[in-house]
Amino acid sequence: MAKLKAVSGDITRLVVDAIVNAANTSLLGGGGVDGAIHRAAGPELLAACRKLDGCASGDAKATPGFRLPAKWVFHAVGPVWHGGGHNEEELLASCYRRSLELAREHQARSIAFPAISTGIYGFPARRAAEIALSTIKAHVETSGVDVVDFVCFDPGTLAIYEQLLTAAESRQDER
Ligand code: ADP
Repeated sequence: MAKLKAVSGDITRLVVDAIVNAANTSLLGGGGVDGAIHRAAGPELLAACRKLDGCASGDAKATPGFRLPAKWVFHAVGPVWHGGGHNEEELLASCYRRSLELAREHQARSIAFPAISTGIYGFPARRAAEIALSTIKAHVETSGVDVVDFVCFDPGTLAIYEQLLTAAESRQDER
């Protein structure tokens, strides 16, 4: 069984095989976690992203981590929240699924996710966390990933993940 955990802090500091970026379709950098990752990885990351020719919402593409402690960055493009009737939930699930597929391709055994789409893109945090957890649980075993960190940048997000993970653990203990 893969280990799923909530951790607080800055995703750019994590020593893991791959970190996931909450990127935009241009892949040419932005605010929030995307800006932090580009600053920490150095200008080589932008140069590598330029060669990828953008990325559709719900998809993800890989680059090396350059100056980051992480070996890989998987640039996932989450949906912008438009009220929930525009396929946002499926697109968000697809980001997590595609990131695990990239982990498998690149033999990444440990991966860290930010709360994709819940910042500037406005996806409701609790629903986003439920989708993140259920999608990871459904696909982690086939990906070869052993450790999944959900990186929570603010206390509200951390509380949500801790609550959902604890609830999932107690359900498992009952079995
Ligand atoms: P999006 O555009 O997909 O909403 P954001 O970067 O605005 O992406 O926000 C996604 C999540 O990442 C938010 O919960 C935000 O607080 C968090 N975040 C911002 N900076 C970092 C960081 N350095 N490490 C981890 N998470 C971060």
